[in-house]
Amino acid sequence: LPTEFEQARPIMQAIESAGFEAYFVGGSVRDTILNKPIHDVDIATSAYPEEIKKIFKRTVDTGIEHGTVMILDHGEGYETTTFRTESGYQDFRRPDEVTFVRSLSEDLQRRDFTINALAMKETGEIIDLFDGLRDLDNQLIRTVGEAYERFHEDALRMMRAVRFASQLNFKIDSATLTGIEENSALLEKIAVERIRVELEKMFMGQTVQAGLDAFIDTDLYRYCPGMDIYRTELQSLTESELPSLDSDTEVWTFITYLFGLQNGSSTHFLKTWKTSNQIITDVLKIQKVIEAILAEQLTPKVVYDAGLERALSAQKIAIFFGGTIKNDEIKNIYQNLPIKNKSDLNIDGGQLIKVAHIKPGPLLGKVLFAIENQVVNGDLANKQEELVSFATQMVTEEG
Ligand code: ATP
Ligand code: MG
Repeated sequence: LPTEFEQARPIMQAIESAGFEAYFVGGSVRDTILNKPIHDVDIATSAYPEEIKKIFKRTVDTGIEHGTVMILDHGEGYETTTFRTESGYQDFRRPDEVTFVRSLSEDLQRRDFTINALAMKETGEIIDLFDGLRDLDNQLIRTVGEAYERFHEDALRMMRAVRFASQLNFKIDSATLTGIEENSALLEKIAVERIRVELEKMFMGQTVQAGLDAFIDTDLYRYCPGMDIYRTELQSLTESELPSLDSDTEVWTFITYLFGLQNGSSTHFLKTWKTSNQIITDVLKIQKVIEAILAEQLTPKVVYDAGLERALSAQKIAIFFGGTIKNDEIKNIYQNLPIKNKSDLNIDGGQLIKVAHIKPGPLLGKVLFAIENQVVNGDLANKQEELVSFATQMVTEEG
């Protein structure tokens, strides 16, 4: 067993000693069987939240109304969720009611896909009620139960299906795919933030093509904000090798560039997806570098303005759109920059006021800005005397 599970064993044993059942469930079990690294260990238990809190001294109520309590142990947090069933789904998303139950099988039945409905005992023994192991073996994403019903009750699962196809390089079982085709329009009922998370994971997966094909063919893309008019652009992706995107910023830069969105239209598009302001600004900065690369006008100043990390993201994406510059060239340009940021200048506003006798005000800002540009471009040495004489001369010329 992976160390993450080994470390959690005492917790499982404590729950069992108190007379309850405890199992590892969800992605960590799936990923362990696939020999992939795991992130969070989820535990499902027959104990009710109050019962868990009696067993362990240190817990946090992270989602107690859904049955989730986090147990704190040697610096780690373990989410335990009481076995539950869900019913209602009046609005095609979250269930109206969560009912705690004492049986593992009911809990596994509510889960989305067979590969996500495996449970593992603390000893490593696997409980597989829906042929999840067979589907893992055949690399298939298949709903637990009837596909139409499962997507109709929670439309987000359709995005999860394409996301897992991309992450795992799995095929979507044909009945499951049909279920998505029949329900794709229901995606509109889902909060954009939740769709966004799945879309980002799809684009960051190891085989984006696998997810993307289904995303397009089932029409899911049509019910994503602002995407319905870009079928051709999305389709063009399924024929070529995609860049490996490592962050949500890279994903959104890639998508907006693919769609030909810049500046205001890029910002507008990203706002409909409710991305963070940080992502919106970063995307614009990276786009500037991509444009410079594709126009073969990449200057040190462009790299300086973006910073190394954004410039490298730009390089990776620009290659896809026909750019030829290498990753190492970007690193070289950055390495050779005379300054990496403003604070590296051998002069600042205060010194300009004192030594070059410039009054505080707009002119001061203008002079500093010009100095920064000249130094970055290599037209002016970053030495105080030279910077002062440049400033003095500029002030004279500006009158
Ligand atoms: P990841 O590796 O990305 O965390 P995961 O399978 O663990 O993948 P989570 O979103 O963490 O995905 O959910 C944990 C488990 O909860 C899933 O494996 C699945 O069993 C169940 N689950 C999550 N979302 C849904 C849903 N919308 N409908 C049904 N079951 C779900
Ligand atoms: Mg998980």
